[in-house]
Amino acid sequence: MNILVLGSGGREHALCWKLAQSAAVTEHGGKLYAAPGNPGIAQCAEVVSLDEKNHAEVVRFCADKAIGLVVIGPEAPLVDGLADSLRKAEIPVFGPSQAAAQLEGSKNFTKALCDRASIPTAGYVHCTSLEQAKAALSTFAPPFVLKADGLAAGKGVVIADNVEHAVEALEDMFGGKFGSAGAEVVIEEFMHGEEASFFALTDGETVVPFGTAQDHKRVGDGDTGPNTGGMGAYSPARVLTGQLVAETLERIVFPTVRQLRDEGMPYVGVLYAGLMLTGEGVKLVEYNCRFGDPECQVLMMRLQSDLADYMLACAQSTLADLPQPDFANDTAMTVVMAAKGYPDTPEKGGTIDLREAEADGAKVFHAGTKLVDGQLVANGGRVLNVTATGSDTKAAQEAAYRAVKAIDFPSGFYRNDIGWREVARET
Ligand code: ATP
Repeated sequence: MNILVLGSGGREHALCWKLAQSAAVTEHGGKLYAAPGNPGIAQCAEVVSLDEKNHAEVVRFCADKAIGLVVIGPEAPLVDGLADSLRKAEIPVFGPSQAAAQLEGSKNFTKALCDRASIPTAGYVHCTSLEQAKAALSTFAPPFVLKADGLAAGKGVVIADNVEHAVEALEDMFGGKFGSAGAEVVIEEFMHGEEASFFALTDGETVVPFGTAQDHKRVGDGDTGPNTGGMGAYSPARVLTGQLVAETLERIVFPTVRQLRDEGMPYVGVLYAGLMLTGEGVKLVEYNCRFGDPECQVLMMRLQSDLADYMLACAQSTLADLPQPDFANDTAMTVVMAAKGYPDTPEKGGTIDLREAEADGAKVFHAGTKLVDGQLVANGGRVLNVTATGSDTKAAQEAAYRAVKAIDFPSGFYRNDIGWREVARET
């Protein structure tokens, strides 16, 4: 079976790396394509140039190359309805419809769905004007959680310690700082607790758990400095015990999938639930309609089952026919190497020599890299995702940092403490 993966980050490199090991490709003569890809992806897939915004071009390519499965990596093309265009052309696709992708594309959509399905989450007010939002602040206690409704590349959430900061942030949002994403705003009650990520695959009806992870959003050691797309992650998140996973499925994930199905927008693909483990039980922080980046990298390192089989079963509504997916008991950890200046002004063009980083079984997934005259250089904020496994988090951490230290990337930096919470618990 021929497979097309859309995207260019470390997440898509990890997906391509795993899909290239699927029997569909290794035994049945299938071919793996990726667009636009990156130099790492080019080592395991044929990289092609396709404009994901041009749905007709993607559909045409799939017909020409007899693509049997399309995997859409990032959220933007999903929210833009690419999965619908492919399904209309009867091309199997792993990824939700535009309607179901509103789970990530609109905070208010998700909050309202949680109301309808009685899913535990923070109390909220949906605001459509600055005046309404300012007035609503008085019904919350600080810290104030303010969210631009639409997609804002992970930057549309502000936690304000006092009313002045909250008003400033609301003025920015309604003033157009996030474009149309900020035309509506959700104000939420602040939830206290530890965060963890839970993943499930679904074909709209059947749901299978697909691993847990924790990530590190802040740029600096000790969780300091500005927020980023993620500086590292590890899986499993043992803080999500079997009992908490069962609670997450029963109270959050199953009701969501059922509600979407009953409302005529069945969810197909991976459902990524951002959770808060509060004193009152597990609550939903947010949904993402795709794998996390770098959480995907750690999940793929642990996955033992054939990824293409599961993705195709989601696309073809046959997930109930497959056994539960198998994950190694080992811990996997990703350390992100970023370009100096990230997240504000990452330095581009710094040279990279991977040397013997993969010698001990680590895997270096590429994110923002580029080849210039045969030389690998940095071409984005997050550049490399160095991923390794170990029998526990401490062992995975040691292996990941050994690989990081083997890499020569003078204009790069990384956090030194990925996994600190879990390592502290272990010791
Ligand atoms: P992401 O970059 O994860 O996609 P996002 O922009 O979609 O983020 P959220 O995940 O909803 O936004 O919020 C970002 C972060 O803000 C959360 O990971 C969490 O740390 C914090 N946060 C969001 N909502 C709340 C809340 N109600 N209470 C406490 N913290 C919250």
